[in-house]
Amino acid sequence: RTTRTTKELLELDRKYIWHHISPYNDNAYPMVIKETKGSCITDIHGNKYLDGLSGLYCVNVGYGREELAQVAYEQLKQVSFASMINSHVPAIELANKLNEWLEDEYVIFFANSGSDANETAFKVARQYHEQTGNPNRFKFISRYRGYHGSTMGALAATGQFQRKYKYEPLAPGFIHVQPPDSYRRPEGLSIEEFNLQCARDIETVIHREGKETIAGIIMEPAITGGGAIIPHPIYLKTVQEICGKYGILLIFDEVICGFGRTGKPFGHMHFGVKPDMISMAKGLTSGYLPLSATAVRKDIYESFKGSNEYSHLRHVSTFGGNPAACALALKNLEIIENENLILRAQMLGERLREDLKSIEGHPNVGDIRNLGLFMGIELVENKETKEPASLERMVKVVNMCRSKGLIVGKNSDTVPGLNNVILLAPPLSISDDELQHLV
Ligand code: PLP
Repeated sequence: RTTRTTKELLELDRKYIWHHISPYNDNAYPMVIKETKGSCITDIHGNKYLDGLSGLYCVNVGYGREELAQVAYEQLKQVSFASMINSHVPAIELANKLNEWLEDEYVIFFANSGSDANETAFKVARQYHEQTGNPNRFKFISRYRGYHGSTMGALAATGQFQRKYKYEPLAPGFIHVQPPDSYRRPEGLSIEEFNLQCARDIETVIHREGKETIAGIIMEPAITGGGAIIPHPIYLKTVQEICGKYGILLIFDEVICGFGRTGKPFGHMHFGVKPDMISMAKGLTSGYLPLSATAVRKDIYESFKGSNEYSHLRHVSTFGGNPAACALALKNLEIIENENLILRAQMLGERLREDLKSIEGHPNVGDIRNLGLFMGIELVENKETKEPASLERMVKVVNMCRSKGLIVGKNSDTVPGLNNVILLAPPLSISDDELQHLV
């Protein structure tokens, strides 16, 4: 609550807030969000928008759920704080529930953000190898165009140079490979052949780097913010085989793909593969409170039980696994289950894909692809040459959507000029009418 006028608030914002990843702009104010409800956000001027991005790809159950606010309130009254050096009931219940969702046995390390879920996975992987007779395994392979977070390790894993180059050197030991961007595959190769080739290239990189130096491979099941790059199943199956062959841990970053976004509980479940570790955040609480988790295969965890005083994981987070956030996450997962939102994401993804056939013929629409309710529309200047849409055109489209009351995203990419994918990821609870408005 505030007694200040809109103008005063905007001036104060400009004076004191350092906005995330936004250029300075003395001629414009940021969108100050005043109210959120269902699939919509309202700014401080009273303009209402359909949020086609679910905030930052996180508000899976939609905004304004009373029961989520209530459960956090009740939990805060009962246990205001407990760290995960100890434990508490919501964390225990949530770890158990995540195991149900994962359909396998994983031990859960709770933290606060997607970035630190990935940092945890890197530390676990290095220590695991160090303690199981492979002390030289310290490198991680990840993909160009993938995003894994803003901290030094997670940013090192990220394959988008413009987010990195002013902060380098980052954490050493991160190597990047090409993702299977099937739309831009070489002529003469089928999608399946190209995806197989991309996976086999990883094996070549492993040999060139020294196969006994690789600790893990981290990837999103489908690259999301980097441009909606959805693999053929043969790609991830082959990556998993390669990991098995060389004793490399397979880490899936499910920060966006998890919690129903893709029409399955987790994105990797589309592809018949089983990761060794899984990082999750965003949709875990639908963004209502900060919480993340790293799920670690049970037998990896077991290897930390040695007698040496240094054999346990020496990693701690004050706020990680906060009781109110865990209680809220449990309720959030209950909503997803009770309202069948995973199936809904799959069905709405199919409907959106079908409805957008109407724009396939447009001269600037190169490709439309989706996995559930995550969609990318790749814009081009020329359909024949696939010349990517210019940044001006992309900004124009994003702004035009906004002027019509719709928030859409745009990928950021490692290749200058390939910032040409419009991204859509509305709440899984979006109504039929709202989806129609989005179309
Ligand atoms: N991994 C992926 C795939 C993401 O999209 C993001 C954030 O957008 C992160 C990790 C980092 O999450 P956070 O911003 O919560 O640190």
